[in-house]
Amino acid sequence: MIQETITDTCHVCKSTNIVRNGTNRYGKAQYHCKDCGVYRVLKPKLTSSETEQQTVLRACLERSSLRGVERIFDIARQTVAQWIKAYVETTARNQREARACGIR
Ligand SMILES: [Zn+2]
Repeated sequence: MIQETITDTCHVCKSTNIVRNGTNRYGKAQYHCKDCGVYRVLKPKLTSSETEQQTVLRACLERSSLRGVERIFDIARQTVAQWIKAYVETTARNQREARACGIR
């Protein structure tokens, strides 16, 4: 039998002097660091990478529904809506700057 020992560390100060501190309201395990005193989630949900965000935005530009994108990529549609809003704002800003410079 192979056993692995995992030692979790504080995300702030990298100390191993941490204790479990129950769960948050979403059921994720929390810890308390006895060295720096922070309370954090032990294994936070990973954020989407830039390339994954670009893939989701391309799927949205192909006129896929928000709920369809949510089901396919397993990303909340509120998050996708925020990405689309940021994309549209930066695109509009770039077009305005291009027009001001005389570029079409
Ligand atoms: Zn700490």
